[in-house]
Amino acid sequence: MAIIRVQKGTKDILPCDMPVWHFMEDKAREIFTSYGAKEIRTPIFEATELFARGVGDTTDIVNKEMYTFEKSERSLTLRPENTAGVVRSFIENGMHRLSAPVKLWYKGPMFRYERPQAGRQRQFHQVGVEVFGIKQAAADAEVILMAVNYLKALGLNDLSVELNSLGCPECREVFKTKLKEVIKPYLPQLCPDCQARYEKNPLRLLDCKVEECKEIYAKPEIQAVIQSDFICENCANHFNELKCYLNALNINYSINKLLVRGLDYYNRTVFEIKSNNLGSQNAVCGGGRYDSLVKNLGGEDTPAIGFAMGMERLASLIGQKEDERTTAFVVSNNTLEAIRLTEELRADGISAEFDLTNKKFVKQLEKASKVAKFALILGEDEIAAGKVTVKNLDTSEQKTVSREEAKKFFT
Ligand code: ATP
Ligand code: MG
Repeated sequence: MAIIRVQKGTKDILPCDMPVWHFMEDKAREIFTSYGAKEIRTPIFEATELFARGVGDTTDIVNKEMYTFEKSERSLTLRPENTAGVVRSFIENGMHRLSAPVKLWYKGPMFRYERPQAGRQRQFHQVGVEVFGIKQAAADAEVILMAVNYLKALGLNDLSVELNSLGCPECREVFKTKLKEVIKPYLPQLCPDCQARYEKNPLRLLDCKVEECKEIYAKPEIQAVIQSDFICENCANHFNELKCYLNALNINYSINKLLVRGLDYYNRTVFEIKSNNLGSQNAVCGGGRYDSLVKNLGGEDTPAIGFAMGMERLASLIGQKEDERTTAFVVSNNTLEAIRLTEELRADGISAEFDLTNKKFVKQLEKASKVAKFALILGEDEIAAGKVTVKNLDTSEQKTVSREEAKKFFT
């Protein structure tokens, strides 16, 4: 019979991959907790409207990439990202009443109907942070620090931080008008996506990955507009303050005026962290400020800033990590005594296994050396004397000791 295979764009995370995933998850909890952030877990599906309003209906995510389905005449969608869900929960649970800042972090699977390729899946995982309630640039600096320090804790180097300011809705309007003016003569030559973006969200033109469009946007008269300083005085002050913090904290960054980010809700600070060791899918982290989103989704006006990182891309940079071996493997022909000893060890928090098939000692030792750090040999003599022989499977050293003493080897 034909076997059923995993779906295109999805992957099993196998036991042999787990050491890396546990490492990423443990470090996330450790680092984000050290900044005072609390973990939040929101449902994997939400009302479709949440993403249409929260991510924006001019984005690729909402237009092309959502897994949407109907149940009981409701339109539901598998979350393509977690900011909208976290904001919904923030509003619904009245978290604006908590004293600011409210710092939340999350991890989990996201779903986007994209063309699968290296570094791009249809079910993938993100770990991210959202900080609510602070409009000052110090929050932007702290959020960037959280991202950078998490990546450092994972041992990742060769990363570059790219930064831009999208200004506020007022100053951006002026920029959009200028951009449309200068691009207008080339409109018929742009890709269909850009033609649609031109009216709906001209900033996103700069995000286009199509070579022909990129060539057009590289033209001097268009570059002159893109590279111009369009943001208003308040936005410029905010951006300068952030840059001062980052300079003083020795966080290297470069300004990328083409960085506009895929989601509609960003204002002022946007940033991306890229790896020089990934192919074309080289962004490991994307983030930015979204001061209007909480209000747009029906909450109290609350400024916010956050980021999300792609965990599969992080995993591919971390590479292999050694499998977590069981601590003790009990070798014995007396199954009941073996069960008793393994249970005793487990009760003391020591990971332990024993042979379930009652094979020959040599076979049991072979298995032990594959999966465990120590063999605990429980022969007839040892059982009679209430002792156990502890064999270090890396060095082959062994010693016969009391059961109590044996446990000390592992704690
Ligand atoms: P990209 O430009 O690579 O499509 P994006 O702007 O769509 O990224 P965000 O929505 O900001 O990405 O998500 C943050 C991070 O999540 C990305 O930097 C990336 O590491 C990861 N990511 C996004 N989409 C995918 C995907 N389909 N498969 C794997 N990882 C992804
Ligand atoms: Mg994308």
